[in-house]
Amino acid sequence: MAHFDKKQIVKKSENPDRWYTDVILRSEMADYSPVKGCMIIRPYGYALWENIQGYLDKKLKDLGVKNAYFPLFIPMHFLQKEKEHVKGFSPQLAVVTIGGGEELAEPLAVRPTSETIMYDTYAKWIQSYRDLPLLINLWNNVVRWEKRTYLFMRTTEFLWQEGHTAHATFEEADAFAKTIMDTYKRFDEEELAIPVLTGRKSESEKFPGAKITYTLEALMPDGKALQMGTSHNLGDNFAKAFDIQYLDKTGKRQYVWQTSWAETTRVIGALILSHGDDGGLIFPPNIAPTQVVIIPVSHSDAAVSKCDSLKMELEATGIRVEIDDREEKTVGWKFNEWELKGVPLRIEVGERELGSKELTVVRRDTGGKRSVQLSAFSVQLKKLLNEIQKNLFEKMKKFSEENTHEVTNYDEFKNIMNNKKGFIRAFWCGDPKCELSIKGETKATTRVLPLDAKEEKGKCIYCSNDAKHRWYFAQAY
Ligand SMILES: [Zn+2]
Repeated sequence: MAHFDKKQIVKKSENPDRWYTDVILRSEMADYSPVKGCMIIRPYGYALWENIQGYLDKKLKDLGVKNAYFPLFIPMHFLQKEKEHVKGFSPQLAVVTIGGGEELAEPLAVRPTSETIMYDTYAKWIQSYRDLPLLINLWNNVVRWEKRTYLFMRTTEFLWQEGHTAHATFEEADAFAKTIMDTYKRFDEEELAIPVLTGRKSESEKFPGAKITYTLEALMPDGKALQMGTSHNLGDNFAKAFDIQYLDKTGKRQYVWQTSWAETTRVIGALILSHGDDGGLIFPPNIAPTQVVIIPVSHSDAAVSKCDSLKMELEATGIRVEIDDREEKTVGWKFNEWELKGVPLRIEVGERELGSKELTVVRRDTGGKRSVQLSAFSVQLKKLLNEIQKNLFEKMKKFSEENTHEVTNYDEFKNIMNNKKGFIRAFWCGDPKCELSIKGETKATTRVLPLDAKEEKGKCIYCSNDAKHRWYFAQAY
């Protein structure tokens, strides 16, 4: 196995694209696979995904959602049942035509998303108002054939959770879709320390087959927006396509109202981009696979047992700790290594520390050192971890605010998109033609309209016709 004596990563400030790939490979988050566009997630990257799963899984269960599993293969004619849906996904489909050495009577699509395979079954499961709401989530992988791929951000196969619910009324479905959006927002902001804008998508940017798409948009350090998750109000589009009906309390047959929603391994890409620096990754403590690394500077029995007892003490209060006691590596090498891996706090234990009543703790986010009394060690460390969590969020929040521009003039719009980028708030008339022209000329798309956006009297940034709302525009990943 390859080990690197030096960090061998370029500076983020000099070449963010190279830095991003370097840091993922060198920190052993992920590796390239022999299949182009696919990605191998290594244990360090997967541990992060498990923390993401752990948090979201609990929040979804608190909302009454239950986990299940549906097959990887979808009969082709299922996908063709909803017109918009098939149009949206056809270009990216992987299709199996041979099974067991024989040509299949009907080709099978490798799931790009599970609406169609699930809703065929929902039509059987849902008969009465007593069967509603039906709230199901899947943790699985999906395949969307991509031409240009980028580790975590855009891969042909990726991991996610996809939720699919059915309700008795439009209002109930819409409220649930918004509740999920809020759940994702709390997750993105409180756990990943990434501030997001929430709201709805324009007609042309929404999910194929949805009535309303709610979205979460974050600004990355290069000024481009990244979609952190989506929650769709599907209306009765799929219910009609798959004939999902229930008998209401009066004995009348009604179509159900549905939602679907997802967060993917893509948020790991956002996490890396948002917080990392020239030294490597910086993980927010809440989600970091390892929160504290203890590095013995000496390998004496006393130092080793000191490290062990510290680890036990911290773990007893729920802190995730690792001891790096590899004797073949120098202390300096280890400092670099754990800095690269983004572990929030580092502690050194040498002969000098053995007799001391305090230990020096080093923060990854600021590089700051602090002496911490052993008498209240775990309490102090928890406090420090919370400070780091908060600091990372505040830093990104400030960045996002400083890079959001209110613009009323199209030349200024173009100028910003050509140079510093960021979010632009501008009036748009709602005509998809203006949206398309803006995209063609500036690469910026409408990202989101906040749900609480006030109605105003304005002029479209592109065509100068009347416009009611200021939308957020940005170039997107
Ligand atoms: Zn317009």
